[in-house]
Amino acid sequence: MSQFDSVVTKLIPNLAEFQGNDLTVTTPIDGSTLATLRFNTPEEIEAIIAKSQAAFHAWREVPAPRRGELVRLLGNKLREYKEDLSQLVTLECGKIIEEGRGEVQEMIDICDFAVGLSRQLYGLTIQSERPNHTMQENWLPLGPVGIISAFNFPVAVWSWNAALAFVCGDSTIWKPSEKTPLTAIAVQNILNEVLKDFPEAPEGLSQIFIGDAKGGNQMVEDHRIPLISATGSTRMGSIVGPKVAARFGRSLLELGGNNAIIVTPSADLAVAIPSILFGSVGTAGQRCTTTRRVFVHESIIDKVFETLKSAYLQIGSSKVGNPLESSTLVGPVIDQEAFDNMQSAIERIKPHAQEIVGGLQLLADSGGYYAHPCLVRLSDHPEVIHTETFAPLTYLIPYSDLADAMTMHNSVPQGLSSAIMTTDVREAEFFKRHSDCGIANVNIGTSGAEIGGAFGGEKETGGGRESGSDSWKFYMRRQTSTTYFGQDRPALAQGITFDV
Ligand code: NAD
Repeated sequence: MSQFDSVVTKLIPNLAEFQGNDLTVTTPIDGSTLATLRFNTPEEIEAIIAKSQAAFHAWREVPAPRRGELVRLLGNKLREYKEDLSQLVTLECGKIIEEGRGEVQEMIDICDFAVGLSRQLYGLTIQSERPNHTMQENWLPLGPVGIISAFNFPVAVWSWNAALAFVCGDSTIWKPSEKTPLTAIAVQNILNEVLKDFPEAPEGLSQIFIGDAKGGNQMVEDHRIPLISATGSTRMGSIVGPKVAARFGRSLLELGGNNAIIVTPSADLAVAIPSILFGSVGTAGQRCTTTRRVFVHESIIDKVFETLKSAYLQIGSSKVGNPLESSTLVGPVIDQEAFDNMQSAIERIKPHAQEIVGGLQLLADSGGYYAHPCLVRLSDHPEVIHTETFAPLTYLIPYSDLADAMTMHNSVPQGLSSAIMTTDVREAEFFKRHSDCGIANVNIGTSGAEIGGAFGGEKETGGGRESGSDSWKFYMRRQTSTTYFGQDRPALAQGITFDV
């Protein structure tokens, strides 16, 4: 693939350093091999962790606004490489080029956010109950941050973590998904260009290693890494979370979702339909925030279903294809396993389905796995749809009473993203108060969050918060400090007397 060669020449001129026989990296576009890499050995990972710890001790001494300057330069460098990196994202994970660009833009946005943040890592001053005492809260750098990322956001997730970690005074170690290691190497190279001209940045401030779950586990179990930020399946989080807790580490888990939109009778369908479509079929259904369930009031479900059906048929006939082409809206799913999982989920739902639109394989001779996005009309909310199928598969479910819809909405184990389509302020406020998700949108779909808000979800989604708002607090440790500046014997708290 010549486009790949040209991008690699610019972004990964050192590819030979990573080559080996452990991991075949393919493109989901046509299944062809992009590279064969080697896994880092346990000894190498050990050395990386030791180096990261040393880097942390140096970096934490650099003033936070100066640390922000490094992130500012990284943002600028990403602007320079935006198009090349976007193409590599598309080549390696298969999302359409427009979304590849969006992902790199998200990296730039979080860099901008973190630069400002580097002057706003505020603590509190607290009123003391004792005379001549001051109390304050200090936020201090935490240590090396271990980042484990999923294939579907191969670069943005690193940047959400790394940009905040850097301004907070932390070093980082990144284990990318074994399905998308090349974008990670490219990002590390882009950062290296900035680091070489930044004398305060210690060697080892940002490192990556190539590995699978075993390599990730080595980092998870290492007590020198106080924070593990892990993005991926609920299955992975259920292993990683307890292991980090067992060594009293901190984990930031960003796991699977089972996101839903409620469409009420008052909804403006000109707003609702595009939101449902982008949420359901965008990124070929492979966003953690993808719309998987749509609850539609029974009075409008026929109309909503027919409108969506014709859009799905149109997408299947002309909009599924090579993600590098600008006319494509839906690219391939990541691999055969993802496609097979989608087919199994369709088989499981068949006994419950009133009507199924799409779902078949398209472009079967392309070498990749392209699916006609699938819309399933149901009469209820069966147990089989309580699990996440990471593919373009969406269920349409009727409801008669908003409270019942809310109960069905909240009955799944995941709690990431939710939305309501309504023009009734009472319905909107009811929804926001009762959705059990980390994200609750009104007249906006479930996917496509901005970096300014804290991103993450509840229940089996893991409880983590990344990116904006005060998510930076995950990457620092809080210290409460009381100072006595009087001259007499200091008073004890709670009025305790202890005279000798
Ligand atoms: P995955 O769980 O298969 O892998 C994710 C990462 O975890 C990979 O780097 C993998 O090597 C690593 N890993 C797996 N087992 C591990 C272990 N025992 N110890 C340490 N590391 C381990 O997920 P995936 O297929 O790459 O991504 C899809 C999933 O990720 C979906 O469930 C999706 O919803 C979720 N996701 C969530 C978010 C979010 O922010 N909530 C974002 C993106 C993706």
